[in-house]
Amino acid sequence: MSDTICLFCRIIAGQIPSKKVYEDDNVYAFEDIDPKAPTHVLVIPKKHFAGLKEAQAEDAEIIGRCHLVAAEIARQRNIEKGYRTVLNVGPESGQSVFHLHVHLIGGRRLNWPPG
Ligand code: AMP
Ligand code: ZN
Repeated sequence: MSDTICLFCRIIAGQIPSKKVYEDDNVYAFEDIDPKAPTHVLVIPKKHFAGLKEAQAEDAEIIGRCHLVAAEIARQRNIEKGYRTVLNVGPESGQSVFHLHVHLIGGRRLNWPPG
């Protein structure tokens, strides 16, 4: 783990600082460094895989867990009037970090469709 070059693996390992929101054995959540809304939290599996299109059948549970953690954070922050969980998949979607992450975005009115 110590020689990993994945930014989010390094955050999980504590090698790069982050504002932790939640952690359990399988999931880590932290504040996005460049928030796009009053709540902008990234929820990530501790297991490294690049993104949704690289996910395997065995990753189904952890992807679900990440979403349930996002839902719990939204509940705690009282933004259940409307929030969004987003997976950017591939460079043309805006994915810039290739360790699967669920964006939890909320706390303001969200436009549809997204850009
Ligand atoms: P994406 O563009 O979907 O790959 O999302 C990557 C997200 O990671 C962006 O919203 C960035 O602002 C965020 N990000 C990049 N570096 C850091 C960091 N060191 N700590 C927290 N968030 C970060
Ligand atoms: Zn990683």
